[in-house]
Amino acid sequence: MSQEEKTDDCPELGDKHGRFVVIGNGESKGGKKYLKVKCSCGTIKDVLKWNITSGHIVSCGCAAREAQRKYFRTGTKKAPVKI
Ligand SMILES: [Zn+2]
Repeated sequence: MSQEEKTDDCPELGDKHGRFVVIGNGESKGGKKYLKVKCSCGTIKDVLKWNITSGHIVSCGCAAREAQRKYFRTGTKKAPVKI
């Protein structure tokens, strides 16, 4: 199938990973592939593709900030949420 040709473009377009939706290709830095993603809070940023597809990074940091706020109130310093 000719879909193979799209692999180099952005096969992830529209994919959801955590709070991110892939909106395009990011810059490639150091030979590594980045994806441009939009977080559910509205932040747009480039994230290393591997970090997204592997589930290492699931938000721009807003999830962790929210969790921290929540956990500060209960006295726990570390939030068990991935950034
Ligand atoms: Zn966010």
